[in-house]
Amino acid sequence: MSEINGGARSPFEGGPYGIHHLPYGIFSTADDPTRRIGVRIADQVLDLRALDSEAVFAPQIRAALASDSLNALMAAGPDAWRPVRSRITDLLASPDFGERASRALTPIRRARMHLPFAVADYVDFYASEHHATNLGRLFRPDSEPLLPNWKRLPVGYHGRAGTVVASGTAIGRPSGQRRGAGGEIEFGPSRRLDIEAEVGFVVGAPSEAGTAVPADDFAEHVFGVVLVNDWSARDIQAWEYQPLGPFLGKSFATSIGHWVTPLAALDAAKTAAPEQDPPPLAYLEESERFGYDLTLSVAWNGIEVSRPPFAQLYWTPAQQLAHMTVNGARLRTGDLYASGTVSGPEPGQYGSFIELTWGGSEPVRLGDGAERTFLEDGDTVTIGATAPGLGGETIGLGEVTGTIAPAR
Ligand code: CA
Repeated sequence: MSEINGGARSPFEGGPYGIHHLPYGIFSTADDPTRRIGVRIADQVLDLRALDSEAVFAPQIRAALASDSLNALMAAGPDAWRPVRSRITDLLASPDFGERASRALTPIRRARMHLPFAVADYVDFYASEHHATNLGRLFRPDSEPLLPNWKRLPVGYHGRAGTVVASGTAIGRPSGQRRGAGGEIEFGPSRRLDIEAEVGFVVGAPSEAGTAVPADDFAEHVFGVVLVNDWSARDIQAWEYQPLGPFLGKSFATSIGHWVTPLAALDAAKTAAPEQDPPPLAYLEESERFGYDLTLSVAWNGIEVSRPPFAQLYWTPAQQLAHMTVNGARLRTGDLYASGTVSGPEPGQYGSFIELTWGGSEPVRLGDGAERTFLEDGDTVTIGATAPGLGGETIGLGEVTGTIAPAR
């Protein structure tokens, strides 16, 4: 797959944002505050609007590509995504690219990045067996960690789409009700503010109400992938969550990366997903059952504290899509569904601080003698991920970062 243009090597070959990746985002610059679609290539952003005069794209897709969000392109479906991606690849690989289109490139350091798409509905799953088992032990120490439904269906809940924010947005410490040390009910800023390192799937092509989307139609609807940090106030969550699940402990903010990696860029990262026991019901069966070999990284104030592996999630993204539509709920362009916290079996692979510090009992060392159990004001968390790329290189998904601001 690495051969482009009859084997000539593109100057953009290799690297986390090489020619086989080409994620989409929305950017502006100080000189031109208009928000427009950019494609990340190496340390630059290719401005699709600026390519308009080059007649690179088919007329019917040009309006969508001149938009201030990705939604119109996402809505156009895979029959539009494929030619757009291949036209961009050909352009970047062409020997006369410099003469034709170099003015459409902006150095990444000059780009101001924005939320890449308007979020329609936001669903969060709970698909990692290691994470669900750890949280079960921490939240319900006296019972079986996995509840009886967990291996029968991908457990999930509806989050708050309106508080999904772009990477880099400051995260205000939430306040809420919690149970004090003596069991008394009090109100105040969260003392157990946490992260959840997740992978988000972005729906492009919608579906009709009343129609279940089969797991095998995953690539017909899902446009791409973003990294997600599902900020979580554990003290608020622990008091409020029964019996209806997460609410204010989660809804204050969810951060997503600036760059949406097209699903096609992850074809080389497909890997066999774990066998399921008991076998799932028919609507959750897949003719080709696969996960994605993404390795996440979690940095706390610049110190890497975890490397969660995504490949072995029990419920695949295709099963999650089938499950969330099996009751007839329609998909809308801009729907975001996230995997749930990604945790592996080892402590260095946990995707949340409540797991890494085992409920706050085992502090994490951040260097310079600093120790943490949960987030302090001013702390910054950055989640990244790598994956095998189509040209044999390692690609890097757009990171998601955020810094905690004091409670107001
Ligand atoms: Ca979550």
